Amino acid sequence: MDMYASLFGDCGDAIVIADQQSKILFANEKAQSLFAAHPSVLLQPLSDTNHTVSVVNEPEGAACYPLREVLAGANFCDRECLLQSSTAAPPTWLSITGYAIHLPEPPHHGALLLIRDITAQKASAVAPAPSAPRGWQGLVDRTAFMARIAAALEDAQQQPTSVAVLCLDVKRLKAVNDTFGYLAGDRLLIEIADRLIHLLRPSDTLSRLGGDEFTLLIEKVDKTDNVVAFVAAIHTALAPPFQVQGHDINIDVNVGIGFSRGTTPDADALLRQADIAMNRAKHSFGAGYCIFETFMQADADDSLYLEMALKRAIAHQEFFLEYQPIFWVRTQAIIGVESLVRWHHPEQGILPPAKFIPVAEKTGLIIPLGWWILEESCRQLKAWQDTLTNAEKLFVSVNMSSKQFAQTDVLDRIKGILKATGLAATALKIEITESVLIENSSSIIEILQAIRDLGIKLSVDDFGTGYSSLSYLHKFPVDTLKIDRSFLENADSDFEKLEILQSMVHLAWNLGLEVVAEGIETPRHFAQIKALRCESGQGFLFSEPLSTEAFEEVLRSQTDL
Ligand code: C2E
Ligand code: MG
Ligand code: MG
Repeated sequence: MDMYASLFGDCGDAIVIADQQSKILFANEKAQSLFAAHPSVLLQPLSDTNHTVSVVNEPEGAACYPLREVLAGANFCDRECLLQSSTAAPPTWLSITGYAIHLPEPPHHGALLLIRDITAQKASAVAPAPSAPRGWQGLVDRTAFMARIAAALEDAQQQPTSVAVLCLDVKRLKAVNDTFGYLAGDRLLIEIADRLIHLLRPSDTLSRLGGDEFTLLIEKVDKTDNVVAFVAAIHTALAPPFQVQGHDINIDVNVGIGFSRGTTPDADALLRQADIAMNRAKHSFGAGYCIFETFMQADADDSLYLEMALKRAIAHQEFFLEYQPIFWVRTQAIIGVESLVRWHHPEQGILPPAKFIPVAEKTGLIIPLGWWILEESCRQLKAWQDTLTNAEKLFVSVNMSSKQFAQTDVLDRIKGILKATGLAATALKIEITESVLIENSSSIIEILQAIRDLGIKLSVDDFGTGYSSLSYLHKFPVDTLKIDRSFLENADSDFEKLEILQSMVHLAWNLGLEVVAEGIETPRHFAQIKALRCESGQGFLFSEPLSTEAFEEVLRSQTDL
């Protein structure tokens, strides 16, 4: 209407006027742009609309239709709502004032809404007051964050509400750092923080405790579902690609949630719970979030216990190696051994690597352990070569972790071990997994090349279980492919697996790589790998991993033949 347009047309805030029949009489330009020309979303539930702008939400997650409420007789001032857009752009914060008005024309009874976009204020509101400790990008730092959790827990005791702490782990930040550099990674984190800030209520607290982890405190939670809905909003807000040096990068987060419950834990415990849940979310392919449950604590305690026990085991040298012979398929002669680590646990007996390598990897303890394994393997083969004629031409194949390859002095350490043990470089083969090639992408080619220049052979272990792309292998200077035993396992009954196995062997040949088959358990497996013309293999059919003494016996018996 002209009168409304002349009154409110230029107003910086959005103005919407409706009559008693819910007919929108006027929406100024600001309102049109805010609601994508459909201010009727203020009236209708989402299901009734087909609009690009979806629904105005109370921060608690409840849908709110302010115009309808005013027409029903309610008045309110500065009510804060979130306007969520189905185009997955960050939501907009609104402050809405609504009251009944008398219209100049019948039916006279009407409603006016004055709507202000307060997103910018919200962003600055999460920055701490000047006196508060400042963390990264003006977010609260660890001390202030912990203090706020503690205060929220106190508050929650007087109310029927709880407190939620969320840990958010940014997936693939490392890949961005590796590919585009740390500066680009930092910029990406700032943009992520910016999108998160747009989702916050005044009482929420966002912090970055370091690395690729954000933490979020949500107070006055009355329903778990509201937090779950909030997590969905986080995923939605982070879904549109981020621009990194002109590239569209998709980023997502794993979210762990800890709720204060009946027996309220302290701030540290609640944060730890969220962290445990986040680690679970990381390792499960689910909804991208996980809510802490008590049984998870026991698992985390177990892994903590294991970590402490591993540290002690390294100090007390509780590890030893077994050796599994590797055979030349055509002649069935032993050509080398793979050294495999075992832990002689003082209470639990002998533990296989599956029980401790994952924790050793996670905690970095694999680094000292891995260097010990390499040194011990080289020392042992050298001792055999010096005493047993049949051992002179053998090689030892040693598994190395990607964590070891991330060390800057990896080459010097390998050289040092060869020098100290006196083993010829040509008698050493290093087994790496595809993760070594992927995780250390920028510098790994030169490192591998330098290792090979020493005369050491490189083997890609468990091939087929990871990225499994032969197409990238030609970039890396490796000599051998060890095909994972899962391919041989059912190859006689599973035709598809046999086909994959065949094409792997052929492609490896085309790349000039030698192929080793793992897990030869039955004469049928053996017949199969012979038919495929794999050069060498290992498996229980020939020999299980053996103790030092048992392997010496095998070598001696070969001499006796
Ligand atoms: P891997 O490097 O692929 O080692 C081969 C595994 O297959 C060994 O298990 C071996 O005992 C098992 N194996 C060999 N032949 C057969 C067979 O015919 N059938 C079956 N079912 N299994 C067979 P193990 O010793 O339990 O080692 C498991 C994994 O633990 C290794 O897989 C490797 O990834 C890791 N690991 C072992 N020792 C070390 C080590 O010294 N350093 C590092 N970083 N990882 C190690
Ligand atoms: Mg191996
Ligand atoms: Mg393997």
